[in-house]
Parts: sequence; C-alpha cells; structure tokens
Amino acid sequence: MIPKSHPRYESLLLRDKMVKASKEGYLADSAMIAHGRGEAFDYLIGEKTTYPAKRAMYVAVAALLLSNNPVISVNGNATALAINEIIELAESVGAKIEINLFYRTDERVKIITQLYKNQGYKDILGTLDDDIEYLNDIKNNRATASKTGIYSADTILIPLEDGDRAEILKKSGKNILTIDLNPLSRTSKMSDVSIMDNIVRAIPFMTKIAEDLKTQDKKVLIELVNEFDNEENLKESLEQIKLKE
Ligand code: ATP
Repeated sequence: MIPKSHPRYESLLLRDKMVKASKEGYLADSAMIAHGRGEAFDYLIGEKTTYPAKRAMYVAVAALLLSNNPVISVNGNATALAINEIIELAESVGAKIEINLFYRTDERVKIITQLYKNQGYKDILGTLDDDIEYLNDIKNNRATASKTGIYSADTILIPLEDGDRAEILKKSGKNILTIDLNPLSRTSKMSDVSIMDNIVRAIPFMTKIAEDLKTQDKKVLIELVNEFDNEENLKESLEQIKLKE
C-alpha cells in the first residue's frame, strides 16, 4: 500500500495499475516504456492540466459531439489507466469504444474485451467476433478496424497512440483527436486536435466539458472547432514544459 502522504502518490498509483495490467497479460512488452515516456513529460509540466490542454479538450469534445460516428480507440495502457472514465466519456458524447492494438494478439483482445464487459459495457468493438476490415487496403495488423467502428468513423479519439497507426488513420481521412503527453510525438503532430495531458486527468475533464457543451447551440461547437489551430496550440503546449525550477 502506498501511503497517501507520499509525495509521488498519484504517480505511484498509476505505476501500480500498469504493473497489475502487465501481470494480467494484456499489455504489450513495450507498454511500460511508453508509460515511462509519458511520466517524464508529465513531470515536466508539473503533473497538472495546462491551459492549452484545456483549450484542446473543449475543441475535441465539440468535435466528438458534432460527429456522426465518433469512436474512442482503446489499447492496453488506456484501459489499464482509465477504463471507467473512458466508458463514461463514451456514454456522455455518444461515442463507440473500439479495441485497437498496435501489437494485436487474440489473447490480449480477449482479456481487454472481458474487462469492458466486467464493467457492464457490452458494446465494445474490435473484438475477436467483430467484422474487421483493413484501412486503406493495408493488409497488416496496424491497419485493422471494426466495420461499424473505426472503419466507418468520422472522428476518432486515439489516446496514447503510436505514430504509425495514427498515420494510417489520418491518411484514411478521419478527424483525429489525441491525448498524448508528448507534444513532439508524431501522433501529436499529425492529429487535428492534440491534448497534451495525462489520460487520467484528461478523460474525466472531457466528460465534464461534454455536460456543458451538450447544452450549447450547435453553432457554438462549430465555432470552437473552426477557430482552433492545432499547430499553434502545440507550440503553446511545448512552452509549458519547464526545465528550470
Ligand atoms: P510517436 O510514434 O507518436 O512519435 P511514441 O513512439 O512515443 O510516439 P508510443 O510510445 O507508442 O509512441 O506512444 C505512447 C505515447 O503516449 C507517448 O508519446 C507517451 O508520451 C504517451 N503517454 C504515455 N502515458 C501517457 C498517459 N498516461 N497519458 C497521456 N499520454 C501518455
């Protein structure tokens, strides 16, 4: 048990979740490395949600609410850190959830499917029984997509995504939203809206934003999306990284 008074309490709690997930067998071998990279960036922004991240979250939620077929793509890391929060956000914005693994194996897909079902979420896509298609006719595991989910989606939220996969999604003409603590990653640069924040803070905050934006006129949401400049916002995000005390 980590004492709550520990100065690194929150961060250690997340490490514990990752270790547990790893033992349960649904993380890729490189998952811890990806988590560590995220931790380093989080440290440098003071482990707090920054203003540019908040701005990007408003835009991302507006985009999800305006979409016809929005999908939240989940991998092992996202599931380990924020499964319940992801389900809540999906329900709030009317998005589907799809399992989307860079290193897709039947075993990992099976475990993750069961985890969502255990939380009472039955409609998970990208499962072993799902109708899987290939994006842009790329016949490899990095391009798989559920026919009713990512394959036909107009907007996809891809938290903690790898650059190769993000590129395939982007090239297929989708509106791409990401949550990635690294503002320099290929995924952040390639996305239409990049939220430089920890998934554990970002997702619940986005659900709160959704409750607010759902009461607003559609015109307000369209304006939010149209006025946003991701490149500019990423520059501002980078400026939040502090290398001095
Ligand atoms: P890219 O291929 O996009 O250039 P990468 O090689 O770093 O980036 P991965 O390691 O596959 O890609 O993706 C993990 C990304 O997720 C990293 O950029 C990391 O900073 C980020 N990340 C890890 N943990 C979290 C977290 N808890 N919240 C938000 N982002 C995270």
